[in-house]
Amino acid sequence: MADLLTSDSSRREFMRTLSLGAGASLLGASALASPLEWLAPARKLGVALVGLGNYSSGQLAPALQQTTYCQLAGVVTGSPAKAAQWQKQYGLAAKNCYDYKTFDRILDNPAIDIVYVVLPNALHAEYVVRAAQAGKHVICEKPMATSVADAQHMLAAMKKAGKQFSIGYRLHFEPHNQAMMRLGQTAAYGKINHLAADNGFKFGPGGTPWRVNKQLSGGGPLMDMGIYCLQGCLYTKGQVPVSVTAKFTPETGSGYFKEVEAGVNWQLRFADGAVADCRTSYAENMQGRLRADAANGWLELEPAFGYGGLAGRTSKNDGLLNLPNINQQAAQMDDFAQCILQNKPTRVPGEMGLRDVQLLEAIYRAAETGRAVSTTDVVQLIDRTSAK
Ligand code: NAD
Repeated sequence: MADLLTSDSSRREFMRTLSLGAGASLLGASALASPLEWLAPARKLGVALVGLGNYSSGQLAPALQQTTYCQLAGVVTGSPAKAAQWQKQYGLAAKNCYDYKTFDRILDNPAIDIVYVVLPNALHAEYVVRAAQAGKHVICEKPMATSVADAQHMLAAMKKAGKQFSIGYRLHFEPHNQAMMRLGQTAAYGKINHLAADNGFKFGPGGTPWRVNKQLSGGGPLMDMGIYCLQGCLYTKGQVPVSVTAKFTPETGSGYFKEVEAGVNWQLRFADGAVADCRTSYAENMQGRLRADAANGWLELEPAFGYGGLAGRTSKNDGLLNLPNINQQAAQMDDFAQCILQNKPTRVPGEMGLRDVQLLEAIYRAAETGRAVSTTDVVQLIDRTSAK
């Protein structure tokens, strides 16, 4: 315990957990679904965003203005101008703003509890490991890493640090996708025999160059957009596939896809014979679709994976997918903060990120070789919590 309580923030966390536990037992465990529902946190956990690009500025920072259990407390950026602008816009203390060289000093900053890595994919590994060494809890954007070896290294560093680690899988906190998980995993429409998912956009002149640079991205639309199709099929079916086949789609002549694929179609096979057909592309705009055909009907989301405007329908017209849209990122980050405060596991752990990197590698191997690739040795992990 002693080494768990070496930093101010660990001590605070421990005291908070202790007082919440005591409060809960006084009232009786059954009286409280979550102690934090009646006891506001003494202090919102501080989040530092690493990398202030589109996702941080357009989604995460605004979402952190709506969170209850965490707040934007700092940033890590290579641009002094951006640091100054963010300090002004969000009232951040200068001492909580770092550049990529000074980042490791975050170790001594008790105002930062959570480091959120929002950098190009290939940089996730370095910054997650450095955050772990600084003793911080970490959220890492998807895809977790550009190789299985990096993902394993990140997991080992986080385990050694004894801190919580999650992947930015926002859809596990989104009502339509949670309903797909629940209805699919409980076989509400019978056994799912077939799934279909697609997601993509037309990469054009405004596209961020690192996305088509293999060294920084690890791959093209599969890493970026296809990962949502992969995730969607797994959480709706409630199983990890046993094998995969795949085919790259042709170059478009745009000149963008010299290093990464323009698109890929792939098929997942599940142990019970079910099949999932998935498509992703940087050469075609797709709304994002997730559909399951089951023994007694079908269910479908389209758009399925965006930040808002999601919509669903079922063969029975039962309204089970007529659900509200919410701020997914705020829900995701608040859940992670509560996991830390209550010392409970996240539903989207680093191990799930590793599972997906293993599957992404298998899809690339299948497309490159033209052969079916077995996936029976990947991490066997499915989110059952979001499905409840
Ligand atoms: P972006 O290009 O807009 O931002 C990346 C940031 O990293 C920029 O501020 C850039 O300056 C910085 N950076 C630092 N070192 C860099 C380097 N060597 N090369 C290039 N940029 C460097 O990208 P983004 O869209 O914000 O994506 C960032 C991460 O977030 C990616 O992993 C992406 O997959 C993920 N993402 C997730 C979602 C989601 O819905 N969960 C949405 C968008 C992006």
